[in-house]
Amino acid sequence: TFSLTGKRIYVAGHKGMVGSAIVRRLAAEGCEVLTTDRALDLREQSAVRDWFASEQPDVVVLAAAKVGGILANDTYPAQFLYDNLMIEANVIDAAAQNGAEKLLFLGSSCIYPKMAPQPISEDALLTGPLESTNEWYAIAKIAGIKLCQAYRREYGCDFISAMPTNLYGPGDNFDLKNSHVLPALLRKAHEAKERGDGEITVWGSGTPLREFLHVDDLADACVFLLKNYSGEDHVNVGFGEDIAIADLARTVCDVVGFEGQLSFDATKPDGTPRKLMDSSRLQALGWSPRIGLREGIADAYGHFVAREAQD
Ligand code: GDP
Repeated sequence: TFSLTGKRIYVAGHKGMVGSAIVRRLAAEGCEVLTTDRALDLREQSAVRDWFASEQPDVVVLAAAKVGGILANDTYPAQFLYDNLMIEANVIDAAAQNGAEKLLFLGSSCIYPKMAPQPISEDALLTGPLESTNEWYAIAKIAGIKLCQAYRREYGCDFISAMPTNLYGPGDNFDLKNSHVLPALLRKAHEAKERGDGEITVWGSGTPLREFLHVDDLADACVFLLKNYSGEDHVNVGFGEDIAIADLARTVCDVVGFEGQLSFDATKPDGTPRKLMDSSRLQALGWSPRIGLREGIADAYGHFVAREAQD
């Protein structure tokens, strides 16, 4: 196994939900965590090269990306493709040029074809057309996986990739229009409880199935992969179980303590009927998630309430 003790580990994207969870998790590893602030634009090749040349990180975790929901992807296709390609190309190349011993690239489940068989295995990559609404982001992330593979083949770099399922937890986006379902429902239930409303609105039919992983579990999986995995193939990181949106909404209401009804807004889209990853490869390596959905939602809700109190 690869030891992180005493290593200088650069976490790119440390302000985001994923990057900040990885920084928290690395605190237990006896390593030195390096970060860069917003003034260093990761799209700028010379800035990234200069930083790597002076800081010489031993390990790199690439959790920096331009991210956003369906609306943002549709509105800014050039930014989603260009920004993400540049960030990946600059960081991966600078890591290689400066002799980084290991790099972990983080992608997303949206890299897989729209019609991939469920649960989605790693082998489904590039077997069919992508979901058109987020293909800009997906193409950039696929390029990131391929960069890691190519640098491994050509230069012998130990660069690996992990593809997480839908994530939630501290630092999530709770914006009602642009967020994903879990933070949106948490906020709706919380505000309905505060106002004394009798019901909350759930988009769509409530029947689609989705998989959710707490970001602290993802961070733990990332550390596990850095230590225990070395190979060309990207690795799925999922929870291993999915849940119907209606049941998710009931669990959220329960955690929040909102006792009203659910109303389903059929004018809003359901999206794909099911999205579950096959995480058996990671399981076979010896990792499984520890944070159950209800417990994880309670944790995310605690962070949401604490942040509301701050604003
Ligand atoms: P997806 O996994 O890419 O489809 O992204 P989302 O997390 O946005 O949506 C997952 C499912 O939850 C879809 O079927 C949505 O219609 C449903 N959903 C129910 N209520 C909400 C809500 O308030 N916000 C969002 N984003 N989705 C919701």
